[in-house]
Amino acid sequence: MKSGVNTLMAPFGGIGLSMQYHLDGFRAGDPSIASASAKTAKDAVDVLIVGCGPAGLTLATQLSALGDISVRIIERKPGPLEFGQADGLACRSVEMFEAFGFADRVIKEGYHVNEVSFWRPDDDGTPLVRADRIQDVEDDLSEMPHIILSQARVHDFYLESMVKSPSRLVPDYNQELISLTLTDGSDFPISATVGYVDRPGETETIRAKYVVGCDGARSKVRSELGLELKGKSARQLWGVMDVLCHTTFPDIRLKCAIQSADQGSILIIPREGGYLVRLYIELAELAPDERAADRGVTSDQLIEKARKILSPFDFEVAQVAWWSAYEIGQRVCDAFDDVMETERGTKSPRVFIAGDACHTHSPKAGQGMNVSMADAFNLGWKLAAVLHGQSCVELLDTYSKERRAKAQELIDFDRKMARLFSEKPKTKDDAARFQAYFKKHGRYTAGVETHYAPSLVVGDTSHQKLATGYPVGKRFHSGPVIRLADAKPMQLGHTLKADGRWRIIAFAPRSDMGDENGPVGTLCASLKELLQSVMSTDADVDALIDVRAVFQRSHRDMDFSKLPSLLRPQKGPLGLTDYEKVFCSLQQEHDIFRLRGINRFEGAVVVTRPDQYVSLVTPITGPAEIKEFFARVLS
Ligand code: FAD
Repeated sequence: MKSGVNTLMAPFGGIGLSMQYHLDGFRAGDPSIASASAKTAKDAVDVLIVGCGPAGLTLATQLSALGDISVRIIERKPGPLEFGQADGLACRSVEMFEAFGFADRVIKEGYHVNEVSFWRPDDDGTPLVRADRIQDVEDDLSEMPHIILSQARVHDFYLESMVKSPSRLVPDYNQELISLTLTDGSDFPISATVGYVDRPGETETIRAKYVVGCDGARSKVRSELGLELKGKSARQLWGVMDVLCHTTFPDIRLKCAIQSADQGSILIIPREGGYLVRLYIELAELAPDERAADRGVTSDQLIEKARKILSPFDFEVAQVAWWSAYEIGQRVCDAFDDVMETERGTKSPRVFIAGDACHTHSPKAGQGMNVSMADAFNLGWKLAAVLHGQSCVELLDTYSKERRAKAQELIDFDRKMARLFSEKPKTKDDAARFQAYFKKHGRYTAGVETHYAPSLVVGDTSHQKLATGYPVGKRFHSGPVIRLADAKPMQLGHTLKADGRWRIIAFAPRSDMGDENGPVGTLCASLKELLQSVMSTDADVDALIDVRAVFQRSHRDMDFSKLPSLLRPQKGPLGLTDYEKVFCSLQQEHDIFRLRGINRFEGAVVVTRPDQYVSLVTPITGPAEIKEFFARVLS
């Protein structure tokens, strides 16, 4: 058996975090607090977000960081979530948190899922035996771990980032969307009527350019669009409880899938802090009109059920921290915006839905919070690009297309997983089928298998062979490098921040020493023309497209001063040199060229979107293709 620890995850004992600040002049104090931007009106905004769940907060954080986009986020509840709901954070979500700047806190506070164990009855009549124990995240799937942490803490980190952002954004609690009206020909074509939960009868009108419904499974925004969640009508009732317990069950600090012979199934999720444990207990299928509340489930019933499934091991609960019984159906909406497929191309979307508002599934695969955040990450930069006038409105059509395909795929996966998990295993083979499915789909549940189809923002694959580890349409897979200027070992992917910028990363051919006339230097000269044509003259050269390079030479053999000027640009009001754009590969098992299948002799260029997905792979000698791509996207 393997160690269970992803050995390539964190070279040099750290996760290679990095921050750049003081570009606008020295400023004392906490560098994570941005300079405040000018306040804008609250009754007419660029983007109105409805709902402060993971989807709404991801979108609000991304947009608030851009400062010049006015955002309002409303939430029906009186304040932030305090406990309960989801807890699984896939590796891909932790990668995204790094782009938002708080992955280190999630990693420090959370439980790290390194191994999973499977329990089931033995053929000899023993009620429960450990059938297998496997590594959870395969080696080099991600530099980030699979984490378990309360959804409420994830909300806290987002809220902190928002309040430290240039727009100092805070949600408006106790405010509930009542209705939406769309009018043509106005700068703010959507009117939202909002009611005050704590002042019945009082309402306010908020005008917006775009509205995003992140308002959960019973979304008001969705119903205002006349859309509905479609899928299996029968819904599954689930019991979930976070407990402090005494037990003789030996794997209580491991994620476990337990299938008993005739008492049902449990999923054990150890929680952050070392003592707390979550148990998911499948209860019953609800009738079409039945709600979870109709069953009158109590925490004592959940404890009793858990005791029976875990028997003959002892299981005593010392404290129930949180519990819930909730229903889940596998459902998805036909569209994630207000444009019908028959109208696509003739009208651009103004209202969007994200997260549980457009798809719901069981918690068994731990995807709810992750997929909801990924929806919002996909949408945020697209809204920003259109609002900034950098991209055509057709960019917004790619949101529904990309995320609906992802949601449908997830629902198909979840349906199969749910069925296998609920089956009463009659033989070892029955139980082994669930286990095999679980193992096979580890990459999928880690969130790294999302693969967007060719579109305006995903190019063709004709040069894929130059960098086989960077499939076009998949997320940029980080790898270890050493920064040239200061010899800092770090993760290349951690330079891809959630700042709305595109990235062009040149992986240099072996012979390239980084001088102006070398392959990367020639590429940079050509790209400089592109950047100057898309940026206003007073903006930094990398304000929209950030060019970086990775060389194969030792960092000690390279001369920073000979690098092309695009890789050491002068920026900001003081014209300071940016020293942090150039990296060198490491040796042997940490060599990014080997890890990501990059052609050593020819090199490669990888273009990534602002949400870190690979748009294009081209030869170093192919700036024309890059220019053509951006001519389409930035029109
Ligand atoms: P949500 O987190 O549902 O957020 C929507 C927000 O919008 C809410 O805060 C809501 O108050 C607000 N809102 C709704 N309507 C309006 C309106 N008209 N005006 C203003 N605000 C509005 N997943 C798991 O994996 N494991 C679990 O154990 C688990 N337990 C759950 C328990 C409960 C009670 C719920 C509701 C969900 C649970 N989930 C669980 C699902 C998981 O939390 C969701 O998949 C995830 O939160 C989806 O994020 P979201 O942002 O799309 O929606």
